[in-house]
Amino acid sequence: MRLVEALCELFLPAACASCRRAHALGGGLCGECALELGAGGPLALATTRAPGTPPVVVAGAYEGSLAEALNEYKERGRRELAPVLAALLDRALGVLAEEAPGAVLVPIPPTRAARRARGFDHVAALCAPLGRTHRCLIARPRPDSVGLTAAQRRRAARSSLAAVPRRAAPLAASGRPAILVDDIVTTGATLSAAAAALSRAGVTVAAAAAVAAVP
Ligand SMILES: [Zn+2]
Repeated sequence: MRLVEALCELFLPAACASCRRAHALGGGLCGECALELGAGGPLALATTRAPGTPPVVVAGAYEGSLAEALNEYKERGRRELAPVLAALLDRALGVLAEEAPGAVLVPIPPTRAARRARGFDHVAALCAPLGRTHRCLIARPRPDSVGLTAAQRRRAARSSLAAVPRRAAPLAASGRPAILVDDIVTTGATLSAAAAALSRAGVTVAAAAAVAAVP
């Protein structure tokens, strides 16, 4: 049965990652969804709860066609969606261009286990076409958050990311600010941990940008 499914995936045109009804064109979406997603919604400042989270500009709410496309890209390896998602991210970053001139993009890294499961670093892949990317964070394995108290969860989030000294040091020395980049923002705990890790390494975090925020 699995072989049949694999063969179908090889020879039948993939369904649109957003509506799943029409056949996908080159970018993983049907024409209608490509237009809808490409147009994007109004840019917004995400509402985050974690203390120490930098201001986060997002290209839309994590719902509807944007949520579908992000899930297909991230969890089902539909990498052909990268250009449309990167373009949305670029729109969000456009707002920050004046606020943080000369800033470099620092993508939030996946844990090694998540990267292995997905087969790629999905946030870095979105940053790649935008250039000026500096991958200077690493993710530590995270404990299962089930059963943790709120304080334990905050501590786990704080220690989940670290700056790689040999990569962060040149950035700190250059004096250029960093803009953190993630795919989806929920509470802001990850961005807050990333900002703290970079700050300890002497890097100033000006802001963050993400494709979508959980409303
Ligand atoms: Zn569609």
